[in-house]
Amino acid sequence: MNQHRDELARAITAEHGKVFSDARGEVDRAIDVVEFACGIPHLLKGGFTDQVSTGIDNWTFRQPLGVVAGITPFNFPVMVPAWMFPVAIAAGNTFILKPSPIDPTPSLMLAELMREAGIPNGVFNVVQGDKEAVDALLDHPDVQAVSFVGSTPIANYVYETGARRGKRVQALGGAKNHLVVMPDADLDKAVDALIGAAYGSAGERCMAISVALLVGDIADEVIAKLGERAKSLAVNDGLVSGVEMGPIVTDAARQRISGYIDTGVAEGASLLVDGRGYRVEGRESGFFLGATLFDHVTPEMRIYREEIFGPVLACLRVANFDEAVRLINAHEFGNGVSLFTRDGNAARVFGRRIQVGMVGVNVPIPVPMAWHGFGGWKKSLFGDTHAYGEEGVRFYTRQKSIMQRWPDSTPKGAEFAMPVAH
Ligand code: NAD
Repeated sequence: MNQHRDELARAITAEHGKVFSDARGEVDRAIDVVEFACGIPHLLKGGFTDQVSTGIDNWTFRQPLGVVAGITPFNFPVMVPAWMFPVAIAAGNTFILKPSPIDPTPSLMLAELMREAGIPNGVFNVVQGDKEAVDALLDHPDVQAVSFVGSTPIANYVYETGARRGKRVQALGGAKNHLVVMPDADLDKAVDALIGAAYGSAGERCMAISVALLVGDIADEVIAKLGERAKSLAVNDGLVSGVEMGPIVTDAARQRISGYIDTGVAEGASLLVDGRGYRVEGRESGFFLGATLFDHVTPEMRIYREEIFGPVLACLRVANFDEAVRLINAHEFGNGVSLFTRDGNAARVFGRRIQVGMVGVNVPIPVPMAWHGFGGWKKSLFGDTHAYGEEGVRFYTRQKSIMQRWPDSTPKGAEFAMPVAH
């Protein structure tokens, strides 16, 4: 993967549309998980208790499940599969990847690289397709566990269907991530963070920031700066150098996002920057959309409640820190969140009180490192374990306990009482 970084990144940009530098970052994050998985002996080693009773030792260790499957979304065709297969395979399972039909090429490139690297046939498998392929995996008695990443309704379906068939399932869903700007924050840094996190990858990241909560009297200043930046964003083919945002993944997605912008206007939000109808010279048939900025959004509006998954940033004005926390905790999603402040105590209280799985303090997109694990709360994750990290290792293995005695040759007869340690 190190040797083929740029090829993988180019394939991502070609099919997904994100800018090349962003695609390279995705490949790097994937490689991080492969490196983490190389430490698997340490992660699989168990616990041992010597002499629980005379001549008896007890130990626990973790064993692979068998065949496991991963079903992945379009938006990270290398990184999200790599949240799964390196850990699953290193732990001793075989893996079936069912990638998104929207950008199927990088998964085949990964399979080719695995073959070149000497992984035996049948250990890493790619099955292309959509619902039918997913249902076949959910139905198959040999598939022991399913990891899913995608939208919340499908995550819910995969979780329920898999669990009903006795499979272990972790299903990561959609998001609506807030960034809170406190009045004491460095406002220029907060604006940079909002622009990058709202419009990077055209907002098609589950950790994208789609809501800015502007606390106190800073809203006018922040919104004026956001408006200037959003209007002048460099939008073009992701392979052109200096481009900040590529096209939307499909025309259907572009229409869905434009529909949300129509809805926001109809609901009474102030549309400050309108990305609809954006044209890139020489690429008139591309699925482009400009950056879009709404002010005066309220919690009842659909553009606040629902995941848009596009380059649309909704600004809400809130009176204080407590109101910001209340709003975030009341939202049905709980994937990522971020707080910009210079107040260490506010940051500490935020981290403890917020009902969200991944929290950033002066960091807009707090995607955890490979050894920490990735996962949201509430409707952003169905199941018990996060992806990769130690939670990933637990997901792809099960514990076995061995209680062992090598008796001396003196016969003792049968024992009928419950064995106890003494
Ligand atoms: P999606 O739910 O449409 O598709 C995800 C996977 O499910 C694909 O492999 C697809 O083929 C399959 N699928 C689609 N419809 C299905 C059906 N009816 N039955 C069974 N399988 C079906 O998601 P997407 O549009 O590819 O990706 C975007 C979504 O993924 C967003 O909601 C985003 O927030 C989410 N996402 C979440 C995370 C996370 O970690 N929580 C990460 C990345 C993306």
